[in-house]
Amino acid sequence: MIPEAKIAEIRERTDLVALVGEYVRLKRTGVSYKGLCPFHDERTPSFHVHPERNFYHCFGCQASGDAIAFLTAIEGLSFVEALERLADRLGMELPRERADRDEVRRERELRDLRYAILDAAAGFYIDFLKQAPEARLAREELETRGIENETADAFRLGAAPNAWDALASHLHSKRFDLRVAESLGLIVKRKGRDGYYDRFRHRLLFPIVDLHGRIIAFSGRALPDAEGRPGSEAPAKYINSPESPVYKKGEILYGLFEGRLDARRQGEILVCEGNFDVLALHQAGSRHAVAPMGTAFTEMHARLIRRFAEQVTLVFDSDAAGRKAVEAAQPILAKAGLRARVLSLPEGDDPDSFLRRVGSDGLREQMEHARGIVDHLIELAASEAGTQPSEKSRAIASLHGVIKNIESPIEAQLYIERIARRFGVNDIQLVKRELRRASRGELFNKSDASFSSKRAQSAPPYTPAAIEADLIGIILDHPSLCD
Ligand SMILES: [Zn+2]
Repeated sequence: MIPEAKIAEIRERTDLVALVGEYVRLKRTGVSYKGLCPFHDERTPSFHVHPERNFYHCFGCQASGDAIAFLTAIEGLSFVEALERLADRLGMELPRERADRDEVRRERELRDLRYAILDAAAGFYIDFLKQAPEARLAREELETRGIENETADAFRLGAAPNAWDALASHLHSKRFDLRVAESLGLIVKRKGRDGYYDRFRHRLLFPIVDLHGRIIAFSGRALPDAEGRPGSEAPAKYINSPESPVYKKGEILYGLFEGRLDARRQGEILVCEGNFDVLALHQAGSRHAVAPMGTAFTEMHARLIRRFAEQVTLVFDSDAAGRKAVEAAQPILAKAGLRARVLSLPEGDDPDSFLRRVGSDGLREQMEHARGIVDHLIELAASEAGTQPSEKSRAIASLHGVIKNIESPIEAQLYIERIARRFGVNDIQLVKRELRRASRGELFNKSDASFSSKRAQSAPPYTPAAIEADLIGIILDHPSLCD
């Protein structure tokens, strides 16, 4: 437990205008500051910060609170995480239970060292990409893909030299502890003799960033060899850092840090499959695009997204694997309470190739035709089934899992009617029977418990009554805020 007095001290000492100013361009108006709200989409500013009261309020969406509330809301942090981050900013120590001072200090030093090494590695790769004559192939790869310098800078792209110990020597020359670099997966111990070799060689490198903006890992894409053809050993297309004390691959969405504020404002996140898709979408103005790190879409990803948005649009490849991925994601998204749509790309396209062909206007137009995920799966099943009755009944039965995952019985009923219409079956009871048969009677056994537990989860994380009282006070003191 963190003592109330400590919490109050953090709240008092935090410069709210400076904190909010890291996210919102604020302009002074009298005693308060004003800017475009980071929590909803608006053209004229209705977001106010009151430095004297240490308080913010939006007259558009009613978001309001103190520094802790602001951080929990904008970064999707828990109360304690927000406190820790504010304490860090102030250079304060939070009291910990049974804290062994020396141990805490050692842990902190090791943590700082890890991030310093990862940062040094990223700097090394960036310099190589930008300056080294040998990095020509990497620069050409970016050019071919239409990645602009601004985008490459925003994502801190780099390249690894075609050498065995370029990074290891660099880190050694900077006097970093190479054992720590090894624990981060940057270098690998040589078998049977001393020394280390680089994990990433002759690759384009994408730094993986956590929600604090710290580099925690790398994803490396193979480059063609100097003759312009794939290397004779055909290296793996992508190599990612192994998991480490700072990197758990299932807990990261590539692009989420860069896109989180746009996602928050728009209430939506685009999920695609690869790093280049994220870059292409970001560059086309859809900065709220993310991709899992070489894994399928998981519940952990859905929970991460839920911290920033309520709606997901899946932008997967139009191939069979992409279709499977949509099917697999549906129950996970439904369970997390996320509304989901699917953007269908033309046959043979991925987001990257599609954008290069049609540009951001074409993407926007395609977005308008994005369908709800259940409608999408019904349509897919219907278009793949032939005209034979046996094919149709099989296709209907294949939708039982989709319907079963829908929490609201009314919604499920409406989709069943839609299935009946789409497949040209007049009797809805027949469709129900087919679905029920396929899912062995599990179709309508929804208990009320699942509804109430979901409501409990979506309760706002931090809404002390004191804030509301304070807010009323502000409005009474400053009636001009209401205009
Ligand atoms: Zn607002």
